[in-house]
Amino acid sequence: MLRTIEIDPEGTSAAYAADPVFRQAVAEMQAETADDVASLKRRKIWMVNSTESGGGVAEMMETVVGLIREVGAEVTWAVMETDESQFFEYTKNIHNLLHGAGDPDKLQGDAEATYEAVSRRLAETIIEHIGPNDILCVHDPQPLAAGAYVVDELGIPAVWRCHIGSEEDTPESKATWAHLRPWIEQYDRTVFSLPEYVPEFLTDRTDIIPPAIDPISPKNRHMKPQEVAEVLARSALVDTDHPTTQFDQVARRLQRDGTFAPATEPEDIGLLFRPTFCEISRWDRLKGFHELLEGFARLKESIRPDANGQTTFDSDSATGHRGDAHRTRIADARLLLVGPDPATVSDDPEGQETLEDIKETWQALDDDLKEDVAVVVMPEDQVRSALVINALQRSATVVVQNSLREGFGLTVTEAMWKRAVLAGSDTGGIRAQITDGENGVLIPDASDPDSVARTLDEVLGSKEQWDEWSLNAHRNVTDEYLVFRQVTRWIATARNAVES
Ligand code: UDP
Repeated sequence: MLRTIEIDPEGTSAAYAADPVFRQAVAEMQAETADDVASLKRRKIWMVNSTESGGGVAEMMETVVGLIREVGAEVTWAVMETDESQFFEYTKNIHNLLHGAGDPDKLQGDAEATYEAVSRRLAETIIEHIGPNDILCVHDPQPLAAGAYVVDELGIPAVWRCHIGSEEDTPESKATWAHLRPWIEQYDRTVFSLPEYVPEFLTDRTDIIPPAIDPISPKNRHMKPQEVAEVLARSALVDTDHPTTQFDQVARRLQRDGTFAPATEPEDIGLLFRPTFCEISRWDRLKGFHELLEGFARLKESIRPDANGQTTFDSDSATGHRGDAHRTRIADARLLLVGPDPATVSDDPEGQETLEDIKETWQALDDDLKEDVAVVVMPEDQVRSALVINALQRSATVVVQNSLREGFGLTVTEAMWKRAVLAGSDTGGIRAQITDGENGVLIPDASDPDSVARTLDEVLGSKEQWDEWSLNAHRNVTDEYLVFRQVTRWIATARNAVES
């Protein structure tokens, strides 16, 4: 029910500080946390979430937990486990409802009874492990009720960290907050990624902690161009006749018969030589993969002459960059839709369904377009997968994040850190990170394939601005979203919980 995760983070303070780029940030983190750590008086912080891998929450946990230890606080990471699939269907529905989608009728009934029963059992397990002076920090709706029951029983300081967020209040989201409120109110503090996401009843007990990335993890560390090529070749994303040894698990690409085969089948995608758009995300319909695929198809259509020899490309004079060279770039462009093997993400029941939907759409494309769109699943091994993501974000011409809703969007942060050229949807956390025309471009309406197509067209044609955008993107992440500030903020929150 509750599994402690042993961590072995890449980064120690000394390792970061050895790099002159991070030395000052490490020193600031150590100085700024000293008082707060002392005030915790060796109380142990428990970070509890619902999965060890897959998605942004798990992604950050190891690094943050490692650095919290480094600054002298006690912390343990534990993952809740249950075989009840209805439990995760219930929490997934809550996730969707807080984003304005989902089914409000399913908040009550059987699924809720399962959620409560599992949460009660989980609470008992937590109580067996946790000490009377410890601080409980639970992440997202999965362990929310269990944590509330623990607080009710032990009265220990507790924090609920909500990684979900939507700026829009919908009847669905309001009903969901009202439903969750009795559980949430058991906690001393709550944490949200952006101020816009905090429901009114929590404004007086909330700290804002935007997510952050670890700049020396396999996913974000520096890679030389040759290493990028090597990782892509070893993971079957680039074909080469030169000697390379493939990883034991490679990236796999959707084939015409509906199976997945090494991604160099049936031919090399052209990653290193063609203009490429690439979105990497979980297979979740809110990630907008489907709409991106449709938008890409429209972009391709725009250069195809109709029966009268006309193209929408010719008739659209709104953008000045449309010339033969640009037309050729569109003709050559490829799209990569990349995500995990859904079988490896235990708390995301919709993943398989979304991938099936994308498979069907891809299979219905005409043959030319099929060649230009690669649907790829990652190697299961997390380190291999991280290296592949790193190499892909560095080699794609444009990194796209077409989420229909997005709590934060670490994929955007990761790509900005690598000085990628970004096209992200104008929503939530993506809007908080990308300033249109300064450090990337925003897709005005991610749900509208025409809007997507126009943005892809615009970004592909703005080559003279890419250097400026990508430098600004890198600077934005350096200033706001590296892990050091995250650690400082967490320790302050733990202190707030103890003192409230
Ligand atoms: N990610 C991954 N493998 C994949 C797809 C995504 O490791 O196949 C990572 C991605 O690099 C990022 C995280 O999962 O670090 C996703 O976080 P984000 O905030 O973008 O979205 P979430 O999944 O939390 O909704």
